[in-house]
Amino acid sequence: IPCDITTSPLPPAMGEGALIALADGSGIEQADQMRRDFVANVSHELRTPLTALIGFIETLRGPARDDAGARSRFLGIMEAEAGRMNRLVADLLSLSRVESDERRRPSGRVELTGLLRGVVDTLVQRAEAAGVKLDLTLPPGEVRVTGDADQLVQVFQNLVENAVKYGGSGGWVGVSLAHVAHEPRLRGPGWSVLVEDRGDGIEALHLPRLTERFYRVDAHRSRAEGGTGLGLAIVKHIINRHRGQLRIESVKGKGSRFTVILPDRGTGG
Ligand code: ADP
Repeated sequence: IPCDITTSPLPPAMGEGALIALADGSGIEQADQMRRDFVANVSHELRTPLTALIGFIETLRGPARDDAGARSRFLGIMEAEAGRMNRLVADLLSLSRVESDERRRPSGRVELTGLLRGVVDTLVQRAEAAGVKLDLTLPPGEVRVTGDADQLVQVFQNLVENAVKYGGSGGWVGVSLAHVAHEPRLRGPGWSVLVEDRGDGIEALHLPRLTERFYRVDAHRSRAEGGTGLGLAIVKHIINRHRGQLRIESVKGKGSRFTVILPDRGTGG
């Protein structure tokens, strides 16, 4: 369990006993509460589709046994519910993997223009089906950063999918890559990837909590879209691992901008 013991500064006047008291009173308890909330959330998220599945199995055994139409309709719903459980388990595994990876910095070299082209290519059809025009703007030439290609694909796929799903009402989603000469929080230059939409936007009060596990602005809509509520939590951990920054800006009624800034360590690495 991650806790604050090693990172809390020890006031100079206090001895070892005080450190333990401090850890007991804040870090461990807080981490424990978070773990309990997480387990409760996971159980709830799994139970909902499971309850539906059990209900439909009972109906298929009983009242709907001889009704071919109902049978095929129910099987379709059961498939969708099983798919939901499958996605949840896949996201949980993904989250646990990126959380335990977080201290190990990625060491690969990734070419961002090609990576972003790939992400947009895989989503362009889905966007079109939702009536959304997907625009990609890239600088000339190649752009290399230090990173884990699979994880960065996961980040941008997630952000673009969210923009299409929740911000698609504006009919347009833009993805653009640009150089940042100096990003103060990275203490140096960076490459920024901006994913923006002209959809409904998000009320300010939700913004600080969006990357929490299972936090959704509208749980009903998220479930209807097949969301697990874990996407942005996974995104946040991957960006932390890359020592990057995630900035979320949104104006209700106008749209949202999600900006990822990755450190630019120059061509050498
Ligand atoms: P989900 O699986 O629900 O999509 P995420 O962690 O990816 O989970 O996103 C959390 C919530 O943030 C979503 O349920 C949605 O309410 C909100 N959200 C994310 N991206 C956008 C966006 N581009 N526009 C509006 N709301 C968004």
